[in-house]
Amino acid sequence: MHKTTITTFAIVILLLSTFSQSQAAGKIEVDVYKGDVATVNSYIFSNGVSLVVMDVQRATSEAKKLGKVIKAKNLPLTHILISHGHPDHYIGMDWLMKEFPEAKIVVATKDIKKDIISFSTFMEGIGWLDAEPTLKPKSKTNPSGFDYEANINVLDDDTLELTGGGTLKIETAYAPAESDHPTTVYVEDINSLFTSDFGFHNVHLWFGSGVTDAHIANWRKALVDLQIKYADLNPTVYPGHGDPNNVDVGLFATMVQYIDNFNRVIASANSKAQAMSEMEKLYPDYKEADFLLKNSVDFHVHD
Ligand SMILES: [Zn+2]
Repeated sequence: MHKTTITTFAIVILLLSTFSQSQAAGKIEVDVYKGDVATVNSYIFSNGVSLVVMDVQRATSEAKKLGKVIKAKNLPLTHILISHGHPDHYIGMDWLMKEFPEAKIVVATKDIKKDIISFSTFMEGIGWLDAEPTLKPKSKTNPSGFDYEANINVLDDDTLELTGGGTLKIETAYAPAESDHPTTVYVEDINSLFTSDFGFHNVHLWFGSGVTDAHIANWRKALVDLQIKYADLNPTVYPGHGDPNNVDVGLFATMVQYIDNFNRVIASANSKAQAMSEMEKLYPDYKEADFLLKNSVDFHVHD
């Protein structure tokens, strides 16, 4: 072989091996599935070898669409990570579990598992699960119901390693806010922070049933803390609800201001209608006024 040819050949081999090494290093990519119902976002993490999905929508009809997006990636789904115990993030898990029998449903803490079970028990009690019968809890009277106890696994670490490389760093040291036990995920590879329901972008915040004044204050404090903690890293921020495009840590200041406005409006409003109209005037472009805002006003303003 000619010397130049040998050199070229060696360089090609070197480049190829570097390329395959960088693939094997598990560089994580993320795809967003934007739900129609309540603007919930699902995040699909891929490293080119396997997939993890975070949060799985409020209705089985949405989970079916999400499942198709996951299937189209042609890689094994190993985990279904539920960030907190609210049904808009977990109802889809039954459908996905059946579509992807190898995938494990996981939560970061025992408390989140408990929150999911108690929310579903509550929903079953008031008939809300009649619309999602496969999510009705397994019991003596309903032996074919969803087995929350067996199907939901608690991670024993604050990291979730993707098969084939890459790490999701899981943080749960938060006071009760939008939910009792929130989870955030940070991915160093792509300098991205997945806030789950600490983050609402261009959509009204949820201060509905269960989100007390104390929880709102905790939420505000958490936003200020996140702003400080991530100021230097300046990650891309992926909210739990609302437009997931082009969001950075500036979202936290915007949300703190929203909280301050909401507190001021509900303190001075004489009626629910007045609070609604004042908030809508302040945030004319925000989505979900008739669901997220309406429930928040109903819970905090008493006519
Ligand atoms: Zn939510």
